[in-house]
Amino acid sequence: MPEPNLLVIGNGGAAIHALQAARASGHSGPLHLVSDMQGRAFNPMLSPYYLAGKILFDDCFPFGEGFYKKFDITCHLGSPVETLDSANKEVILKGGEKLPYDRCLVATGASPLLPPVPGLRTSNHLFTLRTAEDTILLHDALSETQSALILGASLVGVKVAEILVQRGIKVTIVDIAGQVLPHAAHPECAGILEAHFATKGVELHLSSNLERVEDHGSEAVFHFQGNKTIKADLCLVSTGVRPNLDFLNGSGVEIDQGIIVNHRMRTSVEGLYAAGDVSQGRNLLTGKEEVIGLWGNACYQGRTAGLNMAGQKTSYPGAVPDHISTLFGLTLVHLGNPMHQGNDVTILSNRDLSEGPYRLMAFDKGVLVGANLINGFESAGRLRKAMIRKLNWEEHFGPLTRVPSDQEIAQFLADVPDSLSIPSPPF
Ligand SMILES: Cc1cc2nc3c(=O)[nH]c(=O)nc-3n(C[C@H](O)[C@H](O)[C@H](O)COP(=O)(O)OP(=O)(O)OC[C@H]3O[C@@H](n4cnc5c(N)ncnc54)[C@H](O)[C@@H]3O)c2cc1C
Repeated sequence: MPEPNLLVIGNGGAAIHALQAARASGHSGPLHLVSDMQGRAFNPMLSPYYLAGKILFDDCFPFGEGFYKKFDITCHLGSPVETLDSANKEVILKGGEKLPYDRCLVATGASPLLPPVPGLRTSNHLFTLRTAEDTILLHDALSETQSALILGASLVGVKVAEILVQRGIKVTIVDIAGQVLPHAAHPECAGILEAHFATKGVELHLSSNLERVEDHGSEAVFHFQGNKTIKADLCLVSTGVRPNLDFLNGSGVEIDQGIIVNHRMRTSVEGLYAAGDVSQGRNLLTGKEEVIGLWGNACYQGRTAGLNMAGQKTSYPGAVPDHISTLFGLTLVHLGNPMHQGNDVTILSNRDLSEGPYRLMAFDKGVLVGANLINGFESAGRLRKAMIRKLNWEEHFGPLTRVPSDQEIAQFLADVPDSLSIPSPPF
């Protein structure tokens, strides 16, 4: 029997790991890749390093020129998939070309979400940061920029703000939320970061609702609720992303926030798989299925999909939402859900940074569910493990009244036998 014809839509981390895994597992049949963009696979998380002048643009393409040849992949580049006909098992490209498949992986990632604010989408001063093209456009605009408005105090927004400040650009960060990093930092931790960003010259406007944008020549005027206006030469929108799945309309694929997949990355449609930011995955802490939006998760899911498409039965258990980033010289770690709320929640923190690294831990019924660390991440791996293992800290330490030290955490983990093996992300 001939080997199945495997087709992968997308050319990011999830797609590349799927193709590599399928070939490495012994699949000798056809492997097709379709991407809307020309060129090699781009890693979006490297673009801030390029903008900061720390790496070359070429370094944002980590898989090398020879990747596709080495794994004998037939590439269809610069051809967005416009329709996926799951009944006939074929994808239809923009020019009308049809590509058949036996098994297909959707790994089309996500795109920046633009708030529906009048004048924003059409502004000549608007920038986003996701693709290689976005990166070049932003890079080239910076040499002429004196003032920038960052719309969305997300990790991407704050990271770019830091780069712009280093270039001598006046930066204002605006968010509709009442704090920075509303999806990654407990309000107390966010308060510490906000005070620090202010010392670096960043102007913060929180709880600010943008109502309209007007272009006036070389600058744009941003009008906020309450008659507040801010002028800037450049606006980076970093208010979140949405999965790229419009071409699945009519395919019958079950979709929630992203494409719903099982532990083998199979969708609800026979022969169709999904991986990376376009799909959901299991949050190992809550057990819920959600879009996880992390590079390591995308690569893992891609690899799992590739192996299963090639006929190997492999599972991916899910991920813990976590992130480490250096922001204006402070190293911030976010693990799980530090903003977790409820009647049985205990928040412990050592607020005084002069006494050492900041640590905030959120417990629910004695079980650690989230943490923020600033400038001290030695225990991050242990805390992550304790969360996944759902260890009860109250049973070990008694009433939770103070943040345990690194030594106490290490001892706690050592005292509880560990039967859990958590694989490291592939890179
Ligand atoms: C600025 C920035 C910083 C980040 N920093 C971090 C970080 O520090 N840590 C972390 O873990 N994660 C980070 N991320 C997130 C991480 O980059 C993503 O989770 C990861 O790249 C997702 O990979 P993916 O393959 O699912 O999607 P993508 O990388 O988005 O790839 C999707 C691919 O599909 C293609 N495509 C889209 N639509 C179509 C179509 N219709 N037809 C054909 N092809 C299509 C695209 O061109 C692209 O090649 C960051 C992201 C950004 C933007």
